[in-house]
Amino acid sequence: MKVLKFGGTSVGSAARMKEVAKLICDGNQKIVVLSAMSGTTNSLVEISDYFYKGNTSGALERINVLQQKYFDVCEELYASVDHKNEANVVIKTHFDFLRSFSKSVFTLFEEKAILAEGELLSTTLFQLYLSEIGENSALLPALEYMRIDKNAEPDTAFIAVELAKQLELQPDKMIYITQGFICRNFYGEIDNLQRGGSDYSASLVGAAINASEIQIWTDIDGMHNNDPRYVEGTKPVPVLHFEEAAELAYFGAKILHPTCILPAKLANIPVRLLNTMEPTAAGTLITTKGKNGKIEAVAAKDGITAIKIKSGRMLLAHGFLRKVFEIFESYQTPIDMITTSEVGVSVSIDNAKRLDEIVNDLKKFGTVTVDKNLVIICVVGDMPYENVGFQAKVVNALKDIPVRMISYGGSNYNISFLINADDKIPALKALSAALFN
Ligand code: ADP
Ligand code: ASP
Ligand code: MG
Repeated sequence: MKVLKFGGTSVGSAARMKEVAKLICDGNQKIVVLSAMSGTTNSLVEISDYFYKGNTSGALERINVLQQKYFDVCEELYASVDHKNEANVVIKTHFDFLRSFSKSVFTLFEEKAILAEGELLSTTLFQLYLSEIGENSALLPALEYMRIDKNAEPDTAFIAVELAKQLELQPDKMIYITQGFICRNFYGEIDNLQRGGSDYSASLVGAAINASEIQIWTDIDGMHNNDPRYVEGTKPVPVLHFEEAAELAYFGAKILHPTCILPAKLANIPVRLLNTMEPTAAGTLITTKGKNGKIEAVAAKDGITAIKIKSGRMLLAHGFLRKVFEIFESYQTPIDMITTSEVGVSVSIDNAKRLDEIVNDLKKFGTVTVDKNLVIICVVGDMPYENVGFQAKVVNALKDIPVRMISYGGSNYNISFLINADDKIPALKALSAALFN
């Protein structure tokens, strides 16, 4: 069985939902993971923000605007009065639930419940449409099988067992519709897999059922060789190795959630990136096979902070790096890039929440310098070190850009550069010109 995930734009209007229905109703059994309709999760974040600030009338106003959007979709999506009425009841129930938060204390717990509403709405309305057009379909409630553990990591064993149970409860359906993004946490509360997490849901579902393929359907024809939001003339990459795709996703290629490749890679399930607006385009196939010796793509990750610890006395003593890393670990802050020299070590982080505490602790070991507002530029491809020349090509492309850190050798698949945020677009353009044109 295949797992197909459709993102927000792919289900962003009644017309788009009808297109998705045409795409998936092909006589093959499948699981379809849906995001919220585009714009909905952002609106729910905004509504939560009003509640946090105690501005109930602001929240209610936003809720009414969003509800009207859903009534309009419903008017266009369903043909029969019965289905329109049924959908209107669904919409009313979900929006009354949102309104009910005006009477309660508002915390992260309530916010997560609100954020889940987007996917609950899109899947319920879409499945109702499938039943109106006579498709043999069923809903698989993600809140019954998708779970994260105490460390916010997916509980893969639980997911596999509980998803199998949900499928057994409703056997012989052609199309199973389920929610992306949403899950329960270790305490049984409603939670989520972070923004953009529906891709992650799809690969977790794919791994749990040992799917033959995971398809991520979006608004572009596959993984492009550079970020199409900043660089003109980018092109889709036909084939990527799992490692290459994982690096690109982690280092900023928004088309994929940062961690969504891992479950597919571990289960060795091919992932295909496809375009809902152009279903016949080849897209990108992500598998264990890549192209040998080729630079494939470039991505950029924003919001990076660099921390340098200089200590001539201690750096080469054994145990020094361990002590440095332990500080980051104790503040649950992952490190992205590392470079070392005789006198110092530089690391980069993308989560600066605990920066002050980290810097304070690091001061025990040497002089600490912090640079904020940086960007990691990541060049991805099959680049074993024996294959001479590719580093020179990449470095040469960036000859006019001030580079704060360079990293290669952690894997054969990536060279990373840390640069100022202002230099991001010139760097991306320079790399496209030198590597792909
Ligand atoms: P969805 O809502 O379907 O999950 P996203 O907006 O999350 O879609 O991801 C698709 C978008 O990712 C594209 O519209 C494109 O602007 C952006 N994007 C960024 N980098 C890349 C890249 N390297 N290749 C393709 N798309 C990219
Ligand atoms: N709806 C969620 C978001 O907007 C999840 C997703 O679309 O992948 O972040
Ligand atoms: Mg996305």
